[in-house]
Amino acid sequence: MKLIESITAMKEYSSALKKGGSGIALVPTMGALHAGHLSLLARAREVCDVSVMSVFVNPAQFGPTEDFAKYPRDLESDRALAESAGCDCLFAPSAAEMYPDGYCTYVDAGPIGDILCGAARPGHFRGVATVVLKLFNITAPAAAVFGAKDAQQTAVIKRAAADLNLPVRIITAPTLRDADGLAMSSRNTYLTPGERKQAANICKALFEAKSLFEGGECSVERLKNTITSTIIRGGLIEMEYADIVDPVSLRPFPANTESPALIAVACRTTESKTRLIDNVVAG
Ligand code: AMP
Repeated sequence: MKLIESITAMKEYSSALKKGGSGIALVPTMGALHAGHLSLLARAREVCDVSVMSVFVNPAQFGPTEDFAKYPRDLESDRALAESAGCDCLFAPSAAEMYPDGYCTYVDAGPIGDILCGAARPGHFRGVATVVLKLFNITAPAAAVFGAKDAQQTAVIKRAAADLNLPVRIITAPTLRDADGLAMSSRNTYLTPGERKQAANICKALFEAKSLFEGGECSVERLKNTITSTIIRGGLIEMEYADIVDPVSLRPFPANTESPALIAVACRTTESKTRLIDNVVAG
């Protein structure tokens, strides 16, 4: 596996592959790799000849009071994991490489980035859209794979790719979960043992709501209340939001419709103050 840290070298690698007739599938990550990330890599390897995984903790998507400084970073471990999963190239630029002095251009994700997680994290999706567009321009992938766990991120990128006519196929891969259902996340390492135990209720609440919805419950308020009471029942977790929205536009789910719904939650633990998100598609 190749390790590339400079943008120039990454562009050269990508254009040489293109000349040779190979296509790249990109998997953008912030590192601290787990099995969920590696499942995206497996999907990337199915769709293109060459897989590139980026590891970059993007300062532009963290708010001033968020966990940028303490976000787990371990390039050596990421490198070994990516290589063992068959990755062809790991692209791990520094922040100075991506945002040199004088950097001032950002991608506005629009209203889809201001709701749900964007309401609590102003500017987050502007940072995400910016870094993903930069990564697309640097690696020139034919396809890029994103996890369903970050449903809003995937929706924002799909929207931006369509709006800006990007020549990249955006692929969504399913959420990988621990045995008790908790969605795998690099941030799960922050959880205290008590919080980790209670965190299983997040997935439980989502699947309860999914089965109620599929059984005919169409009151968004009742579904939200059920989700909230299951998640907060054991303590140590507070709700940020629970919502039922259209999976593509993320607009409020219209009542009495037959189409699928995205049931999404964000919550925060009370001891380690870890923000956890998860979602399911119902219908
Ligand atoms: P992150 O490193 O957290 O920014 O995530 C990088 C990519 O991995 C994003 O497309 C995420 O949606 C995806 N991802 C994160 N957790 C999971 C998971 N548990 N299962 C599948 N994909 C995931």
